Amino acid sequence: MSSRTKTWTRMFCRAGATALIAVALTPTQLHAQDVNYTPGVLPDHWFSGGPQCATFQEDFQIHEYNPDFVILRESGCVHAEKPFLYMLFGRDRVILFDTGAGSNTDPTTGRVPNVVGIVNLVINQWLARNHRQSIDLVVTHLHSHFDHIWGDSQFAGRANTSFVPPGSVPALQAFFGIRHWPRDIVAFDLGQRVVDIIPIPGHDETHIAAYDRQTGVLLTGDTLYPGRIYINVPDPDVFADSVERLVDFTSTRLVTHVLGTHIEQRGSYLDYPIGTHFAPDETPLQLGRAHLLELLEATTFRSREDKHSQKTIIQKAYRDFTTCGPYPECNTVNSGPR
Ligand SMILES: [Zn+2]
Repeated sequence: MSSRTKTWTRMFCRAGATALIAVALTPTQLHAQDVNYTPGVLPDHWFSGGPQCATFQEDFQIHEYNPDFVILRESGCVHAEKPFLYMLFGRDRVILFDTGAGSNTDPTTGRVPNVVGIVNLVINQWLARNHRQSIDLVVTHLHSHFDHIWGDSQFAGRANTSFVPPGSVPALQAFFGIRHWPRDIVAFDLGQRVVDIIPIPGHDETHIAAYDRQTGVLLTGDTLYPGRIYINVPDPDVFADSVERLVDFTSTRLVTHVLGTHIEQRGSYLDYPIGTHFAPDETPLQLGRAHLLELLEATTFRSREDKHSQKTIIQKAYRDFTTCGPYPECNTVNSGPR
């Protein structure tokens, strides 16, 4: 545990959340010139697909947050994980975070998605709108689990494409120029648009977050989203330090939305079970910086140490997310009838 985290822990023990608010607000002194950002719009509801998958043909919902920020949501007719993919356009290149979950084996759904086709469609629409002939594509991942990398092979041989292989810290370091993993936060220039790449191992060893300076959106992958937050790395301090890194980083920046890569909630303290294809009552995707503070608080609650195992972060349900053990261990408060 870092000394900073110990300080937070002591602070919670002694004075509780009031002290947290007082301390956390101190460095957040944004000035008028700092709060210029390009806005965007999120939908009230995302399509989760189905239940008529034979007639529901779209494998992805395409949503323009704004003309240079496109969100792809995989349909529940393709895969129950229904992940979100993100495309950010700069002047020189567009970056794609994640390539989708592929197909379930469920015969009623389980369509094989054309990920590169949907990405090319979005790029071609952007090129036409901007009177451009081409733009370089960077394909990378917020983390390396199967439900976010399935479409990788479809990008093999695609022209004007740089590919960052998943599951490799050295590959991330080499591509983005991260000298000291996971401490260094690096700026990646898309051309008149900078994205900060923040290493946040914990859900997996190669997890990163991405902060878009243009919109103030923070992409947190599977480290924070409305649902079950699985902490898979054995050392709980690795996850705690990553969340602390996000809290520190955002303390001096505006955060318009925190966007993860799944929605699993359908109400306060209420989630859909694992494997739910169709989720018509999903809560919104967007969270805020306050949820990061809640997640940091969650990392301070540890099980009692015994001789067989190191301390772990206690599984705990918050209103909009639940901290869990390694996948699929999770004590949700109320997952409702299956
Ligand atoms: Zn996932």
